[in-house]
Amino acid sequence: QAKLHHRGTAVYFSAALGQDARARMHLLRELREAFDAHDRFFVVYQPKVHLANGRPSGVEALLRWRTANGELIAPDRFIPLAEQSGLMIALGAFVLRNACQQLRRLRDAGHDALTMAINVSHVQLRDPDFMMLLKASLDEAGVPGSQVELEITESMAAEDLELVRGLLAALKTLGVRVAIDDFGTGFSSLSVLRHLDAQRLKIDRSFVTEMLQDNSIARMVISLGHTQRMAVTAEGIETEAQRDALLALGCDEGQGWLYARPLEEAALLAWLANASA
Ligand code: C2E
Ligand code: MG
Ligand code: MG
Ligand code: MG
Repeated sequence: QAKLHHRGTAVYFSAALGQDARARMHLLRELREAFDAHDRFFVVYQPKVHLANGRPSGVEALLRWRTANGELIAPDRFIPLAEQSGLMIALGAFVLRNACQQLRRLRDAGHDALTMAINVSHVQLRDPDFMMLLKASLDEAGVPGSQVELEITESMAAEDLELVRGLLAALKTLGVRVAIDDFGTGFSSLSVLRHLDAQRLKIDRSFVTEMLQDNSIARMVISLGHTQRMAVTAEGIETEAQRDALLALGCDEGQGWLYARPLEEAALLAWLANASA
């Protein structure tokens, strides 16, 4: 969208660009409105399993937005918008709070060893109040930091390594762990890993998708993670063949449609009861 600012007056906008800008403005207006009615945002939870035995190891919280006219907007579309418009801090706090409350209810239902993985935006990491918000969510729900894992993307870590290192040190005092998400899609994998004391690597879905044709990246990420004493999770596992190939490479944990889609609470509890039996 940067082009919009360069072109000068609206007269020069191509029809396509104008359309796109209007659609974004419309979405942004809806996002602001949805904000005043929190019930249009909700969090779903995708189970993660130990690959070796298929037992649940935890869940990942994934944000959803349903607009007033019932349309479900993907986070890849609205999170960048929220980040640019100053809404991400509040939206992120909403996710932290809901995920910690859900973790509380999972523990109460007897799933007391599951971890809760929460995606955080680079905007949240730069917020000086972030640690306070996280601690407040943990305290309010009465859950231990050691069962929470924050997911930050490789590119976030690479862009502001010093900031992220400081944050990791602070998180350690709460027992909160960190996973590097979408690993392999950035450009500075090796140096970032060496300078970060993160506990988990997540192989990006694109490499799981291609691994039956070419497993070189999945293989590299798994061995890299293990050399750095990190656990490795594969995302986007859709077939048994992919699962078997990942297992053969020594991958620790997985998530994907083969096991479960992101679920709302009732379906999650049913899935967990079945998978733990
Ligand atoms: P991510 O953290 O890498 O999450 C994994 C995405 O892959 C999710 O998409 C999930 O639904 C999808 N997925 C999982 N298994 C499969 C599979 O087997 N096949 C396919 N085709 N897809 C699968 P989703 O929920 O649309 O989220 C997209 C991205 O949006 C996330 O990628 C994350 O970067 C971001 N996101 C989601 N929720 C939040 C949030 O609360 N805060 C922030 N900052 N970002 C979020
Ligand atoms: Mg994630
Ligand atoms: Mg990911
Ligand atoms: Mg991803």
